[in-house]
Amino acid sequence: NAIRAALGRPIEGFEVFVANARQGRPESGIWKYVRRNGQPRMVKLMVSAIEQSPGQLIGFLGVAVDMTEQLRNEAAFKRSDRLLRTLSDQVPGFIFQYQSTPGGHACFPFASSGIQQAFEVSADDVAITADPVIERIHPDDLAAYADSLRVSSELLTPWLHEFRALLPRRGQRWLRVEAQPERQLDGSMMWFGYITDISREKRLEEQLRDEARLDPLTGAFNRRHLQKQVNHELAMLEQTGKPLSLVMLDLDHFKSVNDTFGHDIGDEVLKATVDVLRRYARTSDMVCRTGGEELVVLCPGTDLKGAITLAEKLHAAVRDIQLPPVPRITASFGVVTARSDDQLPSLMKRADDLVYAAKRAGRDQVHVLRAVLARLEAGR
Ligand code: GH3
Ligand code: MG
Ligand code: MG
Repeated sequence: NAIRAALGRPIEGFEVFVANARQGRPESGIWKYVRRNGQPRMVKLMVSAIEQSPGQLIGFLGVAVDMTEQLRNEAAFKRSDRLLRTLSDQVPGFIFQYQSTPGGHACFPFASSGIQQAFEVSADDVAITADPVIERIHPDDLAAYADSLRVSSELLTPWLHEFRALLPRRGQRWLRVEAQPERQLDGSMMWFGYITDISREKRLEEQLRDEARLDPLTGAFNRRHLQKQVNHELAMLEQTGKPLSLVMLDLDHFKSVNDTFGHDIGDEVLKATVDVLRRYARTSDMVCRTGGEELVVLCPGTDLKGAITLAEKLHAAVRDIQLPPVPRITASFGVVTARSDDQLPSLMKRADDLVYAAKRAGRDQVHVLRAVLARLEAGR
């Protein structure tokens, strides 16, 4: 019908193929042929006229190419490309192909749109080079990130890694990558996988970890964590001789604070005391609440002399706490330093004995083993 309209006259039969060529216009078009069995085929037909001399037509040259498969593949490709994009826009995080050459060049040949949310870059930004993504990895996590890639590449094992990204807009986020490596013919490695934002899980994890090692009232470390830390520090003492000291204190007449002002005020006194200990302790020291109103400052790397100095400062600082209407708060202190054969119970027992001695001697004072003190004095 299109040819009829173009020529402005009716044509039939074989003439439809050659009508244009007869006019000197080589013909090229896609035709739908129908086989005798009813099967349709899409055929590209090119026809040109053969003339012996100008105007003297002796025949036609026709080339027919069956395009059915190619057209079908193209349509299928368009469909699956659209499917991939639609699906990948739905997943949390983003799916990607990540390529790394032996020369160390890396890029994301494919990244779904979620990369914008995860890294605050677009797929186009990283199609040629992965640098914009790598620049956003937390500097402290960069070495481990590179290591995890190297291991996956060398052993052809899945690339599983968690790392932090520092984003210009949303700040620090935790990301997890999960991808399968595949060696390419050109010697490069290609990973196929996805990256998800796990910041929420990480926050919960951290919260649980804190709950497991912190005292909820004061935020000081609990006895269980003290135990763990003391084990570690005692091992260090044995291996390297690094000293470890411990300051223990027990609030004086604390029961009467509760009895006079109520349990809530008692709680405030405990919190204020822990705050003071934290303020005076070094960052490497650990403030722990080991019992009701019994507190411990663990001092790694501090010898007895250093620990006594700290205890005297803490003794004065506790006396300075102002929490009206509560009168002056005081505490009794014991200071010990670890021996290589110590365990937490033996260390705590010696500290506890000294606190008890301080109580008996009238409270509100710091006690150290007299023999140890004498040695220190002699050394002065
Ligand atoms: P001492 O000078 O001999 O140490 O006298 P004390 O009254 O401090 O000692 P005692 O062991 O008799 O009393 C400790 C009190 O600490 C009893 C308990 O009610 C109180 N206590 C323990 N844990 C808490 C707490 O979490 N909050 C409050 N408010 N009080 C607590
Ligand atoms: Mg007490
Ligand atoms: Mg007590």
